[in-house]
Amino acid sequence: MFDVLIAGGGPAGCATAAALSDLGLSVLLADAGVDRSKQLAGELLHPSGVEDLRALGLGAVIDGTHVPRVRGFAVMDSDGATHRTVVLPYAQEEHGVTFEHAAFAGSLLEAIGARVGVTVARARVTDVRRNDAAGVEVVLTGEGTTRLVQARLLVAADGRGSLVRKLLGIRDHHERMSTMLGLTVDARHLPHEGHGHLFIGGPAPVLGYAIGHGVARILVDLPLGSRPQRVRDPETLQGLPENLRAAVLSALEAQPSRMASNDTRLPETISLGSAVLVGDAAGCAHPLSASGMAFSTRDARVLQAVLRETDGNVQKALPIYGRRRRPAQRTRLSLASALYRAFTDRSAEMQALRVGLFDYWSRSSDGARASMALLSGRETRTWSMAREYARVVGYGAASLLSEGLRPGGRKLEELVGAGAGLVASAWPHVRSAVRGQVEAAGQRLKLPLETPSAGELSVGEARAPERSRPSSS
Ligand SMILES: Cc1cc2nc3c(=O)[nH]c(=O)nc-3n(C[C@H](O)[C@H](O)[C@H](O)COP(=O)(O)OP(=O)(O)OC[C@H]3O[C@@H](n4cnc5c(N)ncnc54)[C@H](O)[C@@H]3O)c2cc1C
Repeated sequence: MFDVLIAGGGPAGCATAAALSDLGLSVLLADAGVDRSKQLAGELLHPSGVEDLRALGLGAVIDGTHVPRVRGFAVMDSDGATHRTVVLPYAQEEHGVTFEHAAFAGSLLEAIGARVGVTVARARVTDVRRNDAAGVEVVLTGEGTTRLVQARLLVAADGRGSLVRKLLGIRDHHERMSTMLGLTVDARHLPHEGHGHLFIGGPAPVLGYAIGHGVARILVDLPLGSRPQRVRDPETLQGLPENLRAAVLSALEAQPSRMASNDTRLPETISLGSAVLVGDAAGCAHPLSASGMAFSTRDARVLQAVLRETDGNVQKALPIYGRRRRPAQRTRLSLASALYRAFTDRSAEMQALRVGLFDYWSRSSDGARASMALLSGRETRTWSMAREYARVVGYGAASLLSEGLRPGGRKLEELVGAGAGLVASAWPHVRSAVRGQVEAAGQRLKLPLETPSAGELSVGEARAPERSRPSSS
């Protein structure tokens, strides 16, 4: 019997395996072996994710791969006639990294396989037979066999479409937002070296970052159900500089297209019995904020911390894990949705919000930094998100006002309508911030729960990072 069974060997599963083996727990990590070279997935890791991987002793994976460093995002707006760029920097001294996803994930799984206390199996979790306070019983299929495995704790790290989440009977709220097309181009076509790029001049955002060896990934957001050739519609790439647009169009002819859906998912609960969700299985957002992997490593560290604090009492630890990660997750999902709406919705109020965003970022360097801190998951408080949104609304309202004072601008009633819509769009964020504050206050007042000792793990102090099995060669 293992202490922990982890389903999924992606960024979340590997980080969790490192985190829990550091506590002295025996970990079986089962990965179905999905071919990542055919998928679109995370290739930009924010500084907090880099920091987490180093803290978990996985820094060599970053240092060993050819990974370009990023210092922040360049956001470029263009409507054909006017071009504006703002740079959203990470905090000083911080940097993120970019890489080719399949190479990164492969190295991560290899490093985990060499860890003391971790066993890696090429197998898929196909059923959960038992899940109660004493532990779980799970069916693993792979390597030519089907076997029953018992563990004290089951961690579902099997991605956004998580089968394990379904087997546990946990429902989720799911919204399919759009389709992403991914291509590669020569990295020299990206204008701001050392930055992630967000081009917002077209009908939907286009993302771009260098992923190593002079290659850049370009991700084009398309309406649901689109075929790759949709990129040829003249307006789709209108936010890109001309040379990049030409490079994307020739890549479309030369390369097999990779596509993915852009989804928001939010499970109704994050733990049940002796099972817990991490990474995308625990919720995902539109990749606009490039935050999925940083939140995956964060989940691993939060789970490690709560198991340590509760001396391995799974029944005590899991509810605390859920409460502790909730505000950050809420902020992340609402930020991604708010930005996606601002960059795709052509209503008068969202156009004003977009102007407000650019004015805020270009006039306030603190504002640009604060927005990047939110985007990258460094700042996770809901009230901070509400405050930043309110500031952007202020800048948007000022732009409407100055338009009203200009001769030949839009009619007064149109401007008033846009202003009212703009202010109303802040309401969900204010409400969410208030709810977050109330929840936090409630948690501070809550007395510790008496819980049974079944499912208790024998947890040691977190060990120092970077312990691999000695190489057999
Ligand atoms: C187009 C796109 C672009 C993105 N860009 C970024 C970005 O730039 N930065 C960023 O941080 N994030 C980005 N993301 C999100 C990022 O890819 C995910 O957040 C991240 O991969 C989640 O890691 P995970 O380990 O939770 O899941 P996954 O990476 O999906 O890994 C799940 C693993 O589980 C295994 N598995 C599946 N089913 C089973 C089973 N039944 N039993 C056992 N194993 C199983 C699979 O083989 C796989 O290895 C992007 C996503 C998309 C779609």
